[in-house]
Amino acid sequence: MLKVFKFGGASINDVQSIKHIAQLLKAYQDCQLVIVFSAMGKVTNMLEDIVGAYILNKGNPYEYLQKVKNFHNIILKNLFREGSPIFDEVNNLYIEIEWVIEEDPHQSYSYYYDQIVSIGELLSTKIMSAYLSDNGFDNKWIDVRDMIRTDNNYRNARVNWDITSSLVKRYVTHNCSITQGFIGCSSDNFTTTLGREGSDFSAAIISSCLEVEELVIWKDVPGMMNADPKIFCNAKLFDSVSFDEAIELAFYGAKVIHPRTIQPLKKKRIPLRVKSFVNPDNKGTLIAEGIDTFPKMPSYIIKDQQILLSISDKNLSFIVEDHMSKIFSLLSLHSASVNMMQNSAVSFSICIDYDKYKTDSLVKDLQKEFSITYNKNLSLYTIRHYREEDLEELLSNKKIILEQKSRNTIQVIA
Ligand code: ASP
Ligand code: MG
Repeated sequence: MLKVFKFGGASINDVQSIKHIAQLLKAYQDCQLVIVFSAMGKVTNMLEDIVGAYILNKGNPYEYLQKVKNFHNIILKNLFREGSPIFDEVNNLYIEIEWVIEEDPHQSYSYYYDQIVSIGELLSTKIMSAYLSDNGFDNKWIDVRDMIRTDNNYRNARVNWDITSSLVKRYVTHNCSITQGFIGCSSDNFTTTLGREGSDFSAAIISSCLEVEELVIWKDVPGMMNADPKIFCNAKLFDSVSFDEAIELAFYGAKVIHPRTIQPLKKKRIPLRVKSFVNPDNKGTLIAEGIDTFPKMPSYIIKDQQILLSISDKNLSFIVEDHMSKIFSLLSLHSASVNMMQNSAVSFSICIDYDKYKTDSLVKDLQKEFSITYNKNLSLYTIRHYREEDLEELLSNKKIILEQKSRNTIQVIA
């Protein structure tokens, strides 16, 4: 039975960790697998810096490219013998970036973003595939852009499921395939990306198309927990989580899985296991249809880098449907998704993730029609299945700006 494995950047961020993953995979040598990798370590951020430098004149793009090269070259030197064909393959990928930045930009920021940032996944999978082969783990490298077909909404591309489904079935033929997360290809053959942290979603797309037995997302945490263990030292592990609860938790910002991951799995009833690549013998968390969330406990989610925009009519008239539709079409145009909103007579408040590239242009566009005030550097606290005593503990000595409560969930901006 076929399984899909997904490994994120943290699992392959240096020589040591790559060797560890190769060791871990030995136990699965006889399984039918599709393995999806993200870019190594923080390479996606490094590539974003190249785009920022190239398009927004924030520094020298070649200097940032050199950082990407240095990062991968250290890994290559330590993992491969001299003369291995991987050196040329990796060089060719650097050259793809050079080709782009050699010319003056004449397309949108998002277009260039996708052409450049996607190289991170191509680098990581080329390296992983070659390293695993050299170590006796037979595998076939697949360019995911031959399989995942999207629209040309760069940086946030939507999947064409029908075409993707037949392509995935056509290309995955080998016992073990290695491919990229996060990226796809438009019908006019340009590279697209699915949104930051989108590799989980890629793995779910492939799992769904192949109707696999299970998707395993390997993480640096023990599984799905009721809080981020890097922030809450007493975070506890869920043994099992229902699909519906997982969708809610991901929606509110639980970082362990990307929000778009669950839906395709739920539709095909494919179980998802989230488990630790550090302790691979531990069971982790099973997320599936028709199981209860266990143990029952409140979940705490904190989203930082929030901005609260208060939007009002320039003539101070009431905010009515007409305004709303303008506001929402601008939000959609700038692909800003709303984390919380509240309406009063003369102002409409929305809380969104602050993005240094997107938010400022959204605000500018909104200012053409509305008066805008905003608060930056806020955090959005969400507690699922909250108890009053949890609230007091979490929110003591925080200045609360906005609060919303439903039966199961409380959200506070502070
Ligand atoms: N490498 C991409 C990112 O860091 C996609 C992913 O890791 O899921 O956003
Ligand atoms: Mg990543």
